[in-house]
Amino acid sequence: MSYQIVDHVYDVVVVGAGGAGLRATMGAAEKGLKTACITKVFPTRSHTVAAQGGIAASLGNMGPDHWTWHMYDTVKGSDWLGDQDAIEYLCREAPAAVYELEHYGLPFSRTDDGRIYQRAFGGMTQNMGEGPAAQRTCAAADRTGHAMLHSLYQQSLKYDADFFVEYFALDLIMVDGECRGLVALCMDDGSIHRFRSQATVLATGGYGRCYFSATSAHTCTGDGNAMVLRAGLPLQDMEFVQFHPTGIYGAGVLITEGARGEGGYLTNSEGERFMERYAPSAKDLASRDVVSRSMAMEIREGRGVGKEKDHIFLHLDHIDPKILAERLPGITETAKIFAGVDMTREPIPVTQTVHYNMGGIPTNYHGEVVTLRDGDPDAVVPGLFAVGEAACVSVHGANRLGSNSLIDLVVFGRAAGHRLNEVVKGGTAQKLLPKDSADLSLARLDKFRYAAGGTPTAAIRNEMQRTMQADCAVFRTEQTLAEGQAKIDAIYGRMGDIKTTDRSLIWNTDLVETLELDNMLSQAVVTMHCAANRKESRGAHMHEDYPNRDDANWMKHTVAWFEGWGGQGGRVGIDYRPVHQYTLTEEIEYIKPKARVY
Ligand SMILES: Cc1cc2nc3c(=O)[nH]c(=O)nc-3n(C[C@H](O)[C@H](O)[C@H](O)COP(=O)(O)OP(=O)(O)OC[C@H]3O[C@@H](n4cnc5c(N)ncnc54)[C@H](O)[C@@H]3O)c2cc1C
Repeated sequence: MSYQIVDHVYDVVVVGAGGAGLRATMGAAEKGLKTACITKVFPTRSHTVAAQGGIAASLGNMGPDHWTWHMYDTVKGSDWLGDQDAIEYLCREAPAAVYELEHYGLPFSRTDDGRIYQRAFGGMTQNMGEGPAAQRTCAAADRTGHAMLHSLYQQSLKYDADFFVEYFALDLIMVDGECRGLVALCMDDGSIHRFRSQATVLATGGYGRCYFSATSAHTCTGDGNAMVLRAGLPLQDMEFVQFHPTGIYGAGVLITEGARGEGGYLTNSEGERFMERYAPSAKDLASRDVVSRSMAMEIREGRGVGKEKDHIFLHLDHIDPKILAERLPGITETAKIFAGVDMTREPIPVTQTVHYNMGGIPTNYHGEVVTLRDGDPDAVVPGLFAVGEAACVSVHGANRLGSNSLIDLVVFGRAAGHRLNEVVKGGTAQKLLPKDSADLSLARLDKFRYAAGGTPTAAIRNEMQRTMQADCAVFRTEQTLAEGQAKIDAIYGRMGDIKTTDRSLIWNTDLVETLELDNMLSQAVVTMHCAANRKESRGAHMHEDYPNRDDANWMKHTVAWFEGWGGQGGRVGIDYRPVHQYTLTEEIEYIKPKARVY
């Protein structure tokens, strides 16, 4: 099909209007750069809106705290895969970023003396892991993400940024290794838009929907990650997928870790508080990978609850209903709607559910994407940035601590704004794009628009999600991963037989769903292969045939390329790069690896 293309010229184009994308958009626009923000859903419908528990920063409002303690916990939580220069930046900048949000109007819950309320969260401790739990997670009841996203969106309207709402970004425009903009589809009228820009920021969120049961929105398909793969650039640490311990059984909807932070606890079929056995000091507030695995062990050993003995109970019924109504109003409602329980009287049935992607687009702590291909680990891709869950800075390493993502969004969204201001010279004449700059995106669009094979999009998606859930889950073995690789490669091959559209319909969502499926499938393939390649257990990657962490051989980031687009069965190229074993300043030394017990 021949398309009439609408052309736009900007200094900066941001893809995504979640917490990360909005903060980056504000940062660029505030500096006077001509900025566009493209988003496939209305900004306040981005997945950030669903974040419940809160945002971590060492304000010390509820007891002693220090950014170095936050850093220690984050390094330990990451199972020593996080880059410590970036983690130092995150934890040091966190308090200022939270006060900034407060000044933007975020309605935080308050202590009696009017300061920002902070609750306990998993893995957050005092005194470099030696002390008791730290209350570090700043909260607006259990609707922190909602409050944050609305505050950021309102603020961003103050600046002169242009929003392109319900535009679906298709692909980056890469010229000689440089990112020069992107091509997008306006979902309203089907028109094609080409954005020429000096810098492009990907803030497209995670890819939780590759799995069958996920707490993430249906829009979390990792489109930016897939655009990066198609541009011939790598993704990092994709084998690290976080399972949240408390998704509502059957529905997958999240019950925040803040519920355990407020005193909730887990029990098995014998009524036992089993976390006391697995994590004697942190108990129910051990980090997520530890709690999820402990639950899986209980279920496996026959102590699960329910008819199928396949889930666990979360108790909040011992907590004063007044406190629940004040601090956890949203989940009171969620438990009622999705599990049919009154949580002030009964336990909530829960199970481990995919929640977060530690892996993503490799960047430095300024948000610049790094290439990692030609021997220089610090070389950046000119014109390309990534922030938020789509990015892998890497501050979360092999396992993210709860409430460390919201802070990652604003700290690195802001850092990207600073860097854009340094590298983009606003208003300068830009190089023209080659004539064929939209051809690849449009050929792919046509391929799927007119796909008339035998297998509907939903059938392939279902197979992908079930395969990921079965073979690349909380526990992994050589066998599940080998089978998983064969299966997922075959499913990828079936894209050749996809049937997108019912021609009798003029309008439907099949085309966009097919584009999203194609995006997810490349990430599913990469995730499975990276998992099969890592012969150790670290953080969220629990490999039963290699149950221990192996720092001598495996303290390194996985870097993976996906080749062979257009053919049947893609090829995954895997390499590794060293973890940054240094800090940013002399105020704190490199935190040396230890056994990770809670
Ligand atoms: C239920 C739930 C609860 C959570 N609770 C917490 C919590 O309490 N504390 C915490 O720290 N973390 C929490 N997290 C994690 C955290 O919320 C997310 O990691 C974070 O919000 C991701 O933000 P983001 O800005 O990177 O992306 P998102 O908020 O996911 O936004 C992605 C944006 O990209 C746009 N986009 C994507 N693809 C395209 C495309 N092709 N074209 C155009 N636009 C596109 C979307 O429109 C959207 O605007 C939670 C996550 C979930 C799922």
